[in-house]
Parts: sequence; structure tokens; C-alpha cells
Amino acid sequence: MQQYEQAWHKVSEEALSGMKAWRDQHPKATFNEIEEALDERLATLRARMLQDAALASTASDWSQAAPEDRPLCPLCGNRLVARGKKTRRLHTQGGKEITLSRSYGVCPTCESGFFPPR
Ligand SMILES: [Zn+2]
Repeated sequence: MQQYEQAWHKVSEEALSGMKAWRDQHPKATFNEIEEALDERLATLRARMLQDAALASTASDWSQAAPEDRPLCPLCGNRLVARGKKTRRLHTQGGKEITLSRSYGVCPTCESGFFPPR
């Protein structure tokens, strides 16, 4: 996770300074408006952290894992063979879009393809 620390600091500082600038520009904002502006900035930070933390999961890239650590086919129980990566887009609770990239696996026995569960 250390590779993300610097990026997370940067994104959180942007959220803090952005909120401060917004507040300076909206001195008469209501409680609800302030809350909305804050949620918007925190949602950006939240989405970034969620994406990075999910990508840091060892389950997201098992293509280089030792054979015994590779996921099992849910149908027949054989080890899956990695077949590159596929990305998918998810929406966070804060309404932000994040992109996750995961290793896609194919079973050599029954030839079904899977995104192994995390
Ligand atoms: Zn199978």
C-alpha cells in the first residue's frame, strides 16, 4: 500500500484546500450546502482510496502467483489459467466511477472463463 501513500496525501490535501476555497467563496452557505460541498470532495477521496486499495489486493492479480495459489474453477475445482486482464467500472456510494483491473482466468478442463472472487 505504500505506493499509494503519496497520492492519497495529495488527493486529501486537494479535498481540504478545495473545501476551504469553496467556503471562502460561499460565506453565506447553509449547513446543507456546506455538507453537500464536503460530501462531494470526500467522495472523490473515497473513490480514489477505494480503487487503489482494491487494486492492491493480491486477488486482483494472481497471474504471477505460484500454481498452488491460483484460484480454483468453481465448476470442477481445477486451477485456473490466467488469460490477461479485464477492466470493469464500478460506481461508489458517493456517485464516483472507479475502474478496476483484474486477472481473468480460464479453466483448462471445462474451458469456462471467470473473474475469481476476491
Ligand atoms: Zn473447470
